[in-house]
Amino acid sequence: MLTDLTLTEARDRLRAGAFTALDLTRAYLDRIRAVDPQVRAFLLVTEEQALEAAQAADRRLAQGDDAPLLGIPLAIKDVLTTAGIPTTAGSRILEGFVPPYTATALERLFAAGAIMLGKTNTDEFAMGSSTENSGYCVTRNPWDLGRVPGGSSGGSAAAVAARMAPGALGTDTGGSVRQPAALCGVSAIKPSYGRVSRYGLIAFASSLDQIGAFGRTLADCAALLGVMAGHDPKDSTSVPDAPPDYTQALTGDVHGLRVGVPREFFIDGIEPDIERAVRAAIEQFAALGADVREISLPHTRYGIHVYYLIAPAEASANLARFDGVRYGPRARVEGMWPAYKVTRGQGFGPEVKRRIMLGTYALSAGYYDAYYLKAQKVRTLIRQDFEQAFREVDVILTPATPGTAFRIGEKIDDPLQMYLADIFTLTPSLAGVPAACVPCGFDANGLPVGLQIIGPAFDEATVLRAGDAYQRVTGWHTRRPQIAESS
Ligand code: GLN
Repeated sequence: MLTDLTLTEARDRLRAGAFTALDLTRAYLDRIRAVDPQVRAFLLVTEEQALEAAQAADRRLAQGDDAPLLGIPLAIKDVLTTAGIPTTAGSRILEGFVPPYTATALERLFAAGAIMLGKTNTDEFAMGSSTENSGYCVTRNPWDLGRVPGGSSGGSAAAVAARMAPGALGTDTGGSVRQPAALCGVSAIKPSYGRVSRYGLIAFASSLDQIGAFGRTLADCAALLGVMAGHDPKDSTSVPDAPPDYTQALTGDVHGLRVGVPREFFIDGIEPDIERAVRAAIEQFAALGADVREISLPHTRYGIHVYYLIAPAEASANLARFDGVRYGPRARVEGMWPAYKVTRGQGFGPEVKRRIMLGTYALSAGYYDAYYLKAQKVRTLIRQDFEQAFREVDVILTPATPGTAFRIGEKIDDPLQMYLADIFTLTPSLAGVPAACVPCGFDANGLPVGLQIIGPAFDEATVLRAGDAYQRVTGWHTRRPQIAESS
C-alpha cells in the first residue's frame, strides 16, 4: 500500500517513476475517508486543492525537477495560516476566518513540492495536551479510540500514526509536538526557538512558539525541517545563519556521543512502563558506543510554575486582538464594549478564558514583579542548567511524558493534572533548545512510549543524528495501530 511508505521512501519512488503524485495523494485521501470518521484528525480536508497540487507536482516531476518534497502530501495543524483556506486555531472565535496569506514555513514546503491534504485538529489556540479543548471535536488516539492523542497538535500526530499522511506540521510551545508524538507513537522534532519562521503561526506565547515536524521516522522529520528552516525577514526572531543539511547529518553513528541522563526526570509519578522503556533505550545508545552519564538539571522542578506564568501572560496579550471586529464572527449586540464582551464570551472556550485571566493577573500592576518578572528570572536559571549540561554532553535523553495516552474525559476537569502531562517537555521550550521525540516501546496496554532527545541550541543536527541512529537499530517506530476502515 502506498500509505505504508515513509515520506523518504515515497519521495524516492516518486522520482524513480514507480507511481505518480496523483496516485499517492489519492491513496491518502482514500485512507482519510476510510479512517478519519473514527479518528477525527482533520478539521478540513482540502481534496480539490490537493488533487490539483498533485497534478502540478507530476508535471514538475516529468520535467526532471528535483525539489526536495515534490509530490509529498502533508497534514497541517490548523494554527498555521493558509491563504484562501479557512484557518480556525481550533477556536470558534475564528470560525469561517479565511486568512489572506500563508505561513512562511508552509510557503517553503509548497515551493519544495509538498501538497496539503487538509488542516488538522488542535486544542483551542494550541492550549492543551489532549485536543479536548478544541472548539470543534475531540481527536481520538489511533492506538485506542477511547483515549486522547495528546495535544495540542493531536490531529497532526494522529494523522501520521493512522497513515492518513506521511508527515505533518505541528506547533510546540511547551510540548505540543513532542507530547502528542509520544502518545501516538510517531517521530517528531521541535527545533530551536528561532530556527523556523513563526510568520503565519497564530501566536499563543510568542517567546516559546515554534513550528515542528511529524513523521514516521526522524529522518522524515529531518527532510521537512530542512525545507522549513532558515531566516525569514518577516520574523525578526528567526536567526540569520543558514541551517545545515539535516539529511547529510544522519550518519547512523553515535560512537563516542556524550549522552546525559538527568536525574530530575526520573521522578515519583512516572509510570513504571515508561521508565523501563526509556532506560532500555538509553542502554541501546550505550550499546551503540555512546558515552552515557548521569547529569543534573537542578531547576527542572520549577518548569511548570514558570511556564504557567509566562505562557498565559503572553497569551493574554496575543489574544486581545480577537474582538469580533477584525476576524471571525461578531456577536450581534449594541455598543462597542458589549460587542467585545459577548463575542469573546461566546467565542473562547473555558481553557482559553482561564489562561487569559491567569495571564492578565500575572501582568497587572503590583503583581508584575512578583509573578512575570520573577518567572523570567527563573527561566534564565533553567536555560543556564541546559548551557551548563551541554558543556559536558552532546545530547540529553529523558522520557517525553510521565504517562501514556489517557482516557478521553479523564483529565479535562482537572487542569493541574492536564498541565502535568507536559512536565518533561516544558523546560527545553523555556530554554529554547531543540528536542525530538521517538517511539521507544509500549506499555502493558499496548500504548506507545516516547523518548525525548534534547540538544544544544541550534544543534538540531545532532538530535536528529542520535534519534535516527536509534531508529536504524530498533523497530518501535515501524509498528502501527489497527483501525477498522469504514466503507
Ligand atoms: N500543553 C501545554 C499547554 O497547554 C503546551 C501546549 C503547546 O505546546 N502549545 O500550554
